[in-house]
Amino acid sequence: MTTNIGFIGLGIMGKPMARNLRKAGFPLIVYNRSRPAMDELAAEGAALAQSPRKLAARSDVVITMLPDSPDVAAVLRGADGVFAGARPDTLLIDMSTIAPGVARELAAEAASHGLPMLDAPVSGGDKGAIAGTLSIMVGGESAAFERAQPLLSALGKTITHCGASGSGQLVKACNQVAVAVIIGAVAEALELGQRAGVDPEIVLRVLGGGLAQNRVLELRGPNMARGVFEPGFKARLHQKDLNIVLDTAASSGAALPFTRLASQGFAALIANGQGDLDHSALLTVLHAIEQPS
Ligand code: NAD
Repeated sequence: MTTNIGFIGLGIMGKPMARNLRKAGFPLIVYNRSRPAMDELAAEGAALAQSPRKLAARSDVVITMLPDSPDVAAVLRGADGVFAGARPDTLLIDMSTIAPGVARELAAEAASHGLPMLDAPVSGGDKGAIAGTLSIMVGGESAAFERAQPLLSALGKTITHCGASGSGQLVKACNQVAVAVIIGAVAEALELGQRAGVDPEIVLRVLGGGLAQNRVLELRGPNMARGVFEPGFKARLHQKDLNIVLDTAASSGAALPFTRLASQGFAALIANGQGDLDHSALLTVLHAIEQPS
């Protein structure tokens, strides 16, 4: 049986993900708040919907890839939202990074409409979204997870059922801790090298061949060394994730001192009006700090 997929949220991540689903042979219907991304996918053969409600009425599976918790809640709950249009048993998969508690609330509400729902946030960045190699962490019922497998396989390589509803988002919070601290570490290594008069290309080459090797260094290091901070992953979205992390830390009793420092760095970047730069622009915050001599 053909599975019609409705995809809502065609940004840096959503657009290439939707494209990969179409390439894998799934009939695709798309909706986005702004029009150009919709037109781009329509030119490639996707059908367009005028609202999330209309999209849901024509879909067997609805995927959302939106910035934050309130965006997902509005797209699902609104008068023109997914809950209002979906036929019973339509599978909802939210792949945005949102608060675990909101993910659980929305899944419970979806269930009351007869709609199974998974939280399935991703890691791997825009490059992973384009290549279809994302790591996807899934929370929700096993039956819904099994149903989602064929289409998640078109989007990612590492697909993990983490447990009950909300647990995909909890694992994503752990992921964002590691990425934030690694960005801080790579930025400090480059900052030290530059201030001490070492060629950043040499720093990158040497670190990339030893114990300090990591994906941030590999994917973002060259642009960081050149001072190029096109997103990628916007700093304000990473700060949104660190707010989720710090709320989760407060309720679970985890002390995360390094994450707090990284979060202060992102806050400074956003206060400078640079929240739409890539999160690796954390380096510019270090550049701006003058050490007392
Ligand atoms: P983005 O800002 O590039 O895209 C968001 C898209 O959602 C935009 O096209 C916007 O028009 C659309 N949108 C917003 N509100 C909407 C609404 N109410 N109805 C319909 N469309 C709406 O963001 P992104 O980088 O693609 O990130 C999306 C999600 O994925 C976020 O939760 C982010 O934290 C997460 N994420 C991003 C990356 C990355 O590297 N960019 C990696 C992993 C996870």
